[in-house]
Amino acid sequence: MKTIGLLGGMSWESTQSYYALINQGVKETLGGLHSARMLVCSVDFAEIAELQQRDEWDQAGELLAAEALRLQQAGAELLLIGTNTMHKVAPAIEAAINIPLLHVADATAAALRAEGIQRAGLLGTAFTMEQPFYRERLAAKGIEVVTPSASERQAIHRIIFDELCLGELRDSSRQRFLQIIDTLADQGADGIILGCTEIGLLVQQKDTSIRLFDTTRIHSQAAIAAALA
Ligand code: GLU
Repeated sequence: MKTIGLLGGMSWESTQSYYALINQGVKETLGGLHSARMLVCSVDFAEIAELQQRDEWDQAGELLAAEALRLQQAGAELLLIGTNTMHKVAPAIEAAINIPLLHVADATAAALRAEGIQRAGLLGTAFTMEQPFYRERLAAKGIEVVTPSASERQAIHRIIFDELCLGELRDSSRQRFLQIIDTLADQGADGIILGCTEIGLLVQQKDTSIRLFDTTRIHSQAAIAAALA
């Protein structure tokens, strides 16, 4: 089994999910007392969020590249960045290491294609929904993305940072997400990408009949497959 390096803390609420999902998956596959070989490097999210707000992505990239290198030096054999948004700086991180980076958008595109979905709604931070880095990566794999309206994007972004990253799960916010998901389905989305690693804490498949693609789960499954290959 390869050692997975998880660059986490963005936020730590979702890093807990990654840790549990990867261990559960290894246990299901190998049985008995098996668990994942894993190194976690968890950053202080306040620093990262501030760099995001100040539009200082190069600095954020340098910071995360240094942490990724520490994971590699500690023995990680593959790298996961446990946030969709910070894949914006994936090229800077990849340039600093020589272990493979499992890109969340690639894993998500593969999961969508496996279910025959070509047009998907995208929910995530404003950075993920509005900037090209994520959408274009999906488009390169044949997935067309539909995004919510400006006011809906603002509401989603606010809920992510003011509630979900702080561990607050509110029913009113779940209802807001479900309304937005219904609207995206009305606009022709055949599935919805939960393109922020905390959204799965609030909204799950049992809440809607529209097919959800939870990037935390998909990314964790891709890591398990790579570690056990
Ligand atoms: N975890 C979130 C994501 O998947 C948002 C936090 C961040 O900005 O990194 O995008």
